[in-house]
Amino acid sequence: MYDIIIIGSGAGGATMAYRLADSGKRILVLERGDYVPVEKENWDSIEVFEKNRYTTTDFWLDKHGKPFRPGMHYNVGGNTKFYGAALFRLREEDFKEIKHYGGTSPAWPIQYEDLKDYYLEAEKLFHVHGKRGSDPTEPFDSEPYPNPPLPHEPRIQEIVDELTNYGWHPFELPVGVNFEPHKTANAPYTLDRFDGFPDAAERKGDAHLCSLSKALENPNVELMTNAKVLKLNTDSTGKKISEVLIEQNGEIKIVTADLVILSAGAINSAAILLESKNEQFPNGIANSSDQVGRNYMFHQNTALVALYTEPNPTKFGKTFGVNDFYHANKGYEFPLGHIQMLGKSDEHQIKADSPIPAPGFTFELMAKHAVDFWLTSEDLPDPENRVTVESGQIKITYSENNQKGHELLKAELIKALKASGKFESFLFKGFYFSKGMDVASPAHQNGTTKMGTDPKTSVVDINCKAHDLENLYIVDGGFFVSSGAVNPALTIIAMALRVGDYIKNQILR
Ligand SMILES: Cc1cc2nc3c(=O)[nH]c(=O)nc-3n(C[C@H](O)[C@H](O)[C@H](O)COP(=O)(O)OP(=O)(O)OC[C@H]3O[C@@H](n4cnc5c(N)ncnc54)[C@H](O)[C@@H]3O)c2cc1C
Repeated sequence: MYDIIIIGSGAGGATMAYRLADSGKRILVLERGDYVPVEKENWDSIEVFEKNRYTTTDFWLDKHGKPFRPGMHYNVGGNTKFYGAALFRLREEDFKEIKHYGGTSPAWPIQYEDLKDYYLEAEKLFHVHGKRGSDPTEPFDSEPYPNPPLPHEPRIQEIVDELTNYGWHPFELPVGVNFEPHKTANAPYTLDRFDGFPDAAERKGDAHLCSLSKALENPNVELMTNAKVLKLNTDSTGKKISEVLIEQNGEIKIVTADLVILSAGAINSAAILLESKNEQFPNGIANSSDQVGRNYMFHQNTALVALYTEPNPTKFGKTFGVNDFYHANKGYEFPLGHIQMLGKSDEHQIKADSPIPAPGFTFELMAKHAVDFWLTSEDLPDPENRVTVESGQIKITYSENNQKGHELLKAELIKALKASGKFESFLFKGFYFSKGMDVASPAHQNGTTKMGTDPKTSVVDINCKAHDLENLYIVDGGFFVSSGAVNPALTIIAMALRVGDYIKNQILR
């Protein structure tokens, strides 16, 4: 019998463990995966991108019932072990209603101010580097980022200058990296293998290193790996989770606690709740609203690789972003979205995304000239976009919405690249390729257990407590009411700190 069980050790779960660790309560973190092995394949792009060495081998179903293998990582630290660590605050406006080309992005029941202090704490915890005030849309904070911005390498600086001359306002990208003296090496560290790679040198600010390992320094916090939660059982009142059913190494076990925090990620948390149906709750638990699994969002994301005439010898290109189109601006009636750089791609990553080389190019030549952009626009919550479970298998029913802004954003970027004069020539012909992220790339998943004040239309309250249950909190990407157009992890981390404080100060007292 534990005091608290936390399900999942990603951004939400690990940070909850960190926050609650000093409560002295007996805390069990259940993680379906194991530690990511530290091995040379961590930085091998053939292993990571072509062979998908670290993604789940589970198959899910798309809306047509067609199986696909999702880009999901089940391991200690969750998806943050592989993320790009671009750690953004949502904008103040994101918490309010915003009109888009495709409809309305609804208001949240909390405001930016409710998360402000926790965002700052999250930036410190995850070693964020950045330059406060350089992003024109970033909310004001009197405190600087905890670490100075990562410097632009020369070719990236040229692109920043070109875009500035073009009239844009590139800003220093907030990125979580820990350069502090380190247990494995004090030598200077070169950022190279980053987006999508686990970090063998343990410098990336991920949830395992920044939150969970600190929580586990406390004797009252325990981690159980390879422990997949199958189902939550309720007591006879139907108001409390009484048992957590897990499968560990082929064995079914039951663990119990007074309080349960579900942080399995927006998709898996919804699946666990839906699979926890019983006679009292035939549609799954915490689901009297019928909202569990609905309103699934994961952004409109595009990786756009531009082949400039100039070679790009950059090792780490992920140092700037552009938010000039984040709000309705520059003649556009509605928001378009956000642009940021990605880590520098190599020929294997390019091949994985664009299996046929550009005319006249080899993959090596493409990689030599490639500059990697990442575009994100908001997708809107739609109850018909949803996670369900069919005979134990996750199904994602998703139809794109609000695409117009994203298409306009792409067109704006291409126009800006062409204006540089280094993008079009006899050989290069302004070539770029782009890959929109489909259901198989649920990196930015959110919205499936949405926050609200009305139990009829939402799953959790403003403290992420399930409306229907007294002892269940859901703290992962599920609580998002709208997706904004910046990466989600810092908001999940900040929310875990906030809810952790609430639990410590109001519930455990
Ligand atoms: C390649 C990639 C790049 C990304 N880049 C960025 C970025 O630059 N910036 C950013 O903000 N976000 C980024 N993201 C998204 C970011 O990683 C997620 O938003 C974040 O990790 C979500 O946190 P979470 O706690 O909701 O879920 P996760 O971090 O996914 O954690 C969920 C945990 O629950 C475990 N789990 C699942 N089911 C069960 C079960 N049944 N029983 C027990 N445990 C279970 C999982 O194994 C996992 O450890 C990226 C994601 C990917 C994949």
